[in-house]
Amino acid sequence: MNEANQEYIVISAARENNLKNVSLRIPKRKITIFTGVSGSGKSSIVFDTIAAESSRLLNENFSMFVRTFLPRYPQPDADAIENLSMAVIVDQKRLGGGSHSTMGTITDISPILRLLFSRIGQPYVGEAHMFSFNDPHGMCPECNGIGRKLGVMMSKAIDMSKSLNEGAIMLPDYAVDGWEWNMIMQSGSFDPDKKLSDYSAEELELLLYGKARKVKMDFAGKATNITVEGVIEKFTNKYIKQDVKTKSERTQKAVAPFISEGPCPGCHGARLNQAALGCKINGLNIAEMSAMEVGQLIRVIREIDDAMAAPVVKSLIERLQHLVDIGLDYLTLDRETDTLSGGESQRVKMVKHLSGSLVDVTYIFDEPSVGLHPRDVHRLNELLQKLRDKGNTVIVVEHDPDVIKVADHIVDVGPHAGSRGGTIVYEGSYQGLLESNTLTGTHMKRPLQLKQACRQPSGKLSIKDATLHNLQNVSVDIPAGVLTVVTGVAGSGKSTLINEVFLSQHPDAIVIDQSAIGVSTRSNPATYTGIMDDVRKAFATANKVNQGLFSFNSKGACENCQGLGVVYVDLSFFESVKLPCEVCGGKRFKQEVLDYKLNGKSIADVLEMTVEQALEFFQLKEVVRKLQAMSDVGLNYITLGQPLSTLSGGECQRIKLASELHKQGSIYVMDEPTTGLHMSDIGHLLAIMNRLVDAGNTVIVIEHNIDVISQADWIIDMGPDGGSRGGQVVFEGTPAQIVKAAQSITGKYLQG
Ligand code: ADP
Ligand code: ADP
Ligand code: ZN
Ligand code: ZN
Repeated sequence: MNEANQEYIVISAARENNLKNVSLRIPKRKITIFTGVSGSGKSSIVFDTIAAESSRLLNENFSMFVRTFLPRYPQPDADAIENLSMAVIVDQKRLGGGSHSTMGTITDISPILRLLFSRIGQPYVGEAHMFSFNDPHGMCPECNGIGRKLGVMMSKAIDMSKSLNEGAIMLPDYAVDGWEWNMIMQSGSFDPDKKLSDYSAEELELLLYGKARKVKMDFAGKATNITVEGVIEKFTNKYIKQDVKTKSERTQKAVAPFISEGPCPGCHGARLNQAALGCKINGLNIAEMSAMEVGQLIRVIREIDDAMAAPVVKSLIERLQHLVDIGLDYLTLDRETDTLSGGESQRVKMVKHLSGSLVDVTYIFDEPSVGLHPRDVHRLNELLQKLRDKGNTVIVVEHDPDVIKVADHIVDVGPHAGSRGGTIVYEGSYQGLLESNTLTGTHMKRPLQLKQACRQPSGKLSIKDATLHNLQNVSVDIPAGVLTVVTGVAGSGKSTLINEVFLSQHPDAIVIDQSAIGVSTRSNPATYTGIMDDVRKAFATANKVNQGLFSFNSKGACENCQGLGVVYVDLSFFESVKLPCEVCGGKRFKQEVLDYKLNGKSIADVLEMTVEQALEFFQLKEVVRKLQAMSDVGLNYITLGQPLSTLSGGECQRIKLASELHKQGSIYVMDEPTTGLHMSDIGHLLAIMNRLVDAGNTVIVIEHNIDVISQADWIIDMGPDGGSRGGQVVFEGTPAQIVKAAQSITGKYLQG
């Protein structure tokens, strides 16, 4: 290889999926952006070729012995891939991790904050691990560092406005004249006719939380020693401290309504023990700092003036600043990572890498602009540039024109999807892209159109005084029978307003989100949309056999792989490895079933067809309607048999949309449906939304994409900022009105 080539990752004749012998050079230590319509082959190049080869090479560094335990990566289908460095994929997969994984732990900021408290916290308590809720020395002993605990729902258990005689205690076993009620009465400690609200603090404490004590009682004329215990104390010991699952089903049902998870009474959700919570810096303990929004916390840390702590303070500020820079200043360090959205998760992962000291890494991002308002896209761009300037190669799959702008090099894949794609239609600078006549180039030049003839609503869906998370008493009317776009900067409260508050009042709404679909490994677009049922019937009728034969859960399925087409080989402690089935060669059916044909095609041939090919092949009305719906949402290129588990979040969302398209009079809620869509596909998506509205449905969309916002009948703009500085409706109205609204940041981006 010659010297000049060292400056490039070189790919020769890549053929994964739909790629047609793609050869290209990706400049090292530069930002390269891959764009092109969905299904054109971007992921096939970036993930299935470049990232796959990098993982394979990484494995080869291990000894043969270790390698037998690692997943085996097949060599990507290409003549050559040269000059790769280690690849790190920063994707939108949610950060799991349960309650012990928080923003602070995942970004490694919490350990530094603990170090700070161990150095200069007052009074001095001890080592850094004493401030960790994951460490026995620091955790609250009541909740084991979880911060939440099962407890009695007091409002359901006790009615303060009543006396004991009137049935103030509503827990099971305490009915007036019941056994437990009698014990309390017999104890002689309480006035049976006094309302609980009139009890003194001591009386109430004794009634509810009194520790077990022996009381002499008179039972049927005989003096007996009886144990009496506070009502809540006893219920807790009996049904919460002991596993309620060991009780009878009847008992479980009876007590369940009185138990809920709430903040731990020991630490009030702070997760730490009293020693840790008593230690303060400038009047704040570590839990209070962790509960502050990052934007505020960084100001508090800056005020710390202590020579002993200077290096720790510096390192904290640097990391917090990364979070601010990427637009996550509205999050708190104690936020549990599994409550973050996909876009937020991706940005958090990005910050982790920025703080790291790796160089000469190939970073691969999958649509990092997801969830970002146009106002904040520049922050993302700055981060990508920082990674590059540290000496890394940055590869980004992206559709957002504002991100594409900062690329050093652009690769436009196309011209269309699936078999009509798989080639590179443009390579070069941003200016060159604008001058090219590819779909991307053409769309980037097109001026933005604002919708003028907005529909009139047929009614309204009201939200009143919403206060969840950061919402500041929001009351807003969502118009019925029109297309409403809810927009605003990240963290302003869009999801809280729509996905939580609105949906809790309208559980009948059809939610089209990006969560994975397909419960079984055998699910595919044909089974999910119901096309498979009609196809099976057609095969059965044409061949005069039972339709059950054509299902891969039936006796017609290949016996070796049970209709999966692949076999999983378990490796002791790593992910199992998937190999094509040797018996059916991946066709999933027995040979006798494959011999039955429909217009010359076997059932396996049909499953290998793309939606587009199937539309040419089938005339069956129902099948055509369902295929057309998939085509309409831009999924022409997927094959009917492609396992749903291989679809991206955006594709899952569009398949859900396709199978819900025929409803009427419903409410549809969609969360960033443009995810994964190229600008030339957005027109299709808008056409579908409009069709839904014209059929009498209400469509509510959370979006940042200005092409979608500009075509709304009604816009609700949340803001003005994220977190505690957001949570208000800053604008309601039409696209033509928002561009004139001074208070709306979104409006500025629609001015074109
Ligand atoms: P993009 O990233 O541009 O949206 P992809 O590279 O994901 O496009 O897809 C290119 C083509 O390859 C599409 O026709 C797609 O259906 C097909 N494809 C992608 N992944 C797989 C897979 N795991 N199995 C079969 N076909 C696939
Ligand atoms: P948007 O959808 O506009 O990005 P969100 O509704 O997700 O905004 O967030 C609004 C505010 O509520 C933010 O401060 C966010 O951190 C907070 N928030 C969102 N979800 C949760 C949650 N599960 N727990 C605690 N705070 C949350
Ligand atoms: Zn606790
Ligand atoms: Zn098989």
